[in-house]
Amino acid sequence: MDQRLEYRIFTYSTFLQNKFGEKVFRVGLSTGITCPHRKNNGGCIFCNPNSFTGKYQSQDLSIKQQLEKAIPKIQKSCGDVKLLAYFQDETSTYGRIDFLRRKYKQALEDPRIEGLVVSTRPDYINEEIVELLSSYKVPVTIEIGMQSKHNKSLEILDRGHSFEQVEESIQLCGKAGLTIGVHLIMGIPNETYADMLQTIKWISSNKFIDQVKFHNLVVYKNTKLANMKDKPSYPIKTHIQNLSKLLPHLRGDICISRLFTSNILNSDLTLNKFTGNKTKWMNELRKLIYKDDIVQGSETKVAYDFREYFD
Ligand code: SF4
Repeated sequence: MDQRLEYRIFTYSTFLQNKFGEKVFRVGLSTGITCPHRKNNGGCIFCNPNSFTGKYQSQDLSIKQQLEKAIPKIQKSCGDVKLLAYFQDETSTYGRIDFLRRKYKQALEDPRIEGLVVSTRPDYINEEIVELLSSYKVPVTIEIGMQSKHNKSLEILDRGHSFEQVEESIQLCGKAGLTIGVHLIMGIPNETYADMLQTIKWISSNKFIDQVKFHNLVVYKNTKLANMKDKPSYPIKTHIQNLSKLLPHLRGDICISRLFTSNILNSDLTLNKFTGNKTKWMNELRKLIYKDDIVQGSETKVAYDFREYFD
């Protein structure tokens, strides 16, 4: 049989195809407000705002202008595809509620937009924002920066929030029926494989989490991490091996929206220059998964079964 990654793990493209019945792309948008944690407290040790801002996104442009810049480029390479407005940079629930309502509304007014994805920190999720997001008639996903279930790791990362706040924000969003994605960082200084496994097992035990985004820790220039005396080293090879061992413990109905940190430019890094690219790493992971006969969720109550999604 065809050795496709999608036959062993629940990928985001499989999720989208299943939900919308066709290919769907995300258009990155900016509310225009700087992350309050970076502005007030210096931010997380790994934060490099350039890494999560698309070229066509700009804090100086209106939502309409950002869409007008981005959509033709997507259509040029992908055709007339369905689109999700992805408020992905900084902390996209930060700001007065009327301001946020206006921003999301401007995106949803565009007839090409079929849904909303909003990325944020757990401490900027409250009842008011959840009520607003759950009032929309289109699919809405909230992506929460969780990173780890261990408070010692959140402290090392200078996240400025606790794991308990992560739990509370997930409960709040889950009870309101929002689709929930969590971001994780693999390779946090002092975290062992056993620590990562505990995080994955906790995610699998949480009934509200629908998606996981894996990031491998990268040391960008001009970050607090880059200035540390003992910079952490997390080679891509280790990440691929860890992923292959963790996947059986991730419930099979939780979709994986990312496996690797995206848009890594070696020229932006101080350490761990990465050889190859995402396609090559995916291929290495795919080979390892088939060699070791790995299936997402096989060690949980819900093993992934590709036959639910593919004819
Ligand atoms: S919460 Fe996000 S945007 Fe804010 S400092 Fe941390 S990584 Fe940067």
